Amino acid sequence: MKRRDFLKTAGTGSLLAGGLSAPFIARGATRIRWKMVTTWPKNFPGLGTGANHLAKLITEMSGGRLQVKVYGAKELVPAFEVFDAVSRGTAQMGHGAAYYWKGKVEAAQFFAAVPFGLTADEMNGWLYHGGGMELWRKLYEPFGLIPAAAGNTGVQMGGWFNREIRSLADMKGLKMRIPGLGGEVLRRLGGTPVNLPGGEIYTSLQSGAIDATEWVGPYNDLAFGLYKAAKYYYYPGWHEPGTTLEALINRKAFAALPKDLQAIVQNACRVVNQDMLAEYMARNNQALHTLVTRHKVQLRAFPDEVLARLRQLSEEVVQEVAAKDKATRAIYDSFRAFRNQVGEWQRISELAYLKARR
Ligand code: CA
Repeated sequence: MKRRDFLKTAGTGSLLAGGLSAPFIARGATRIRWKMVTTWPKNFPGLGTGANHLAKLITEMSGGRLQVKVYGAKELVPAFEVFDAVSRGTAQMGHGAAYYWKGKVEAAQFFAAVPFGLTADEMNGWLYHGGGMELWRKLYEPFGLIPAAAGNTGVQMGGWFNREIRSLADMKGLKMRIPGLGGEVLRRLGGTPVNLPGGEIYTSLQSGAIDATEWVGPYNDLAFGLYKAAKYYYYPGWHEPGTTLEALINRKAFAALPKDLQAIVQNACRVVNQDMLAEYMARNNQALHTLVTRHKVQLRAFPDEVLARLRQLSEEVVQEVAAKDKATRAIYDSFRAFRNQVGEWQRISELAYLKARR
């Protein structure tokens, strides 16, 4: 391109500001500011810091043209109002987990965690290359929202209990903080599920308002000090085998962005989605070691009998949710077909390898 043509393309207005660099100054001047509301306590390890990371990536990758400011739970809106806040445009972005919105859109739970469902790698396979993402976008369309996978905790822990679980009978009458479909499974076992945001878990467990809680895994649970409120720490996290965290984007705000900033927002979510999983993989066992050796936490596996019943009830619960409407059915069918086909591969790959490695 000749210099003359370039200057013409760049627009005559910018010439006054001083030659070739002018268009870039003009571009930099249109600075967009977004708010990101989150369901996490501000700066909470892994989850809150994951949201911070996402905001920082977008701000940096855009050279400051799109600046995202993060608000912890309650700073702008309460944890469980994030969905509505982004939907109505109070904030342009949100970070949380889709199962928190089950009261609004029940099928959203498939995009966070399903008991005995997909692991983190499997979730990513389903979302990015198995049709999951398209279904998720369609589900949130009526709310003016675009969802994105933006973090994954990997397999979570079964939770903290103030008494030992030796049989199915020990699950009866248990008042436990456990969100999503897992909560419904507990209810059918005779327990009482409670949904509390992260910031209220510790005091509820310590005061005896709840008997047990699940949260995430050693890395997060250590940071919350849950070992001070309950002694028994159970595995595996049957109810959350690879929880996907979610970025919510206001559709109008997204549409107003130039194409390159749209690509930055979407790809920053993808980076954070992968990076958070790597962080949990790196930190969980270090934290578990601290919990067991320094804080004398009693690590326990759920008895086989309990897991078998939980699996059975989970199938029931998930199928009932799927039967409620056509959209949910389509999501369930896609999810289930993916789990079945990927399961065959997992048996002769990850599972066989980890068994062989020991
Ligand atoms: Ca959890």
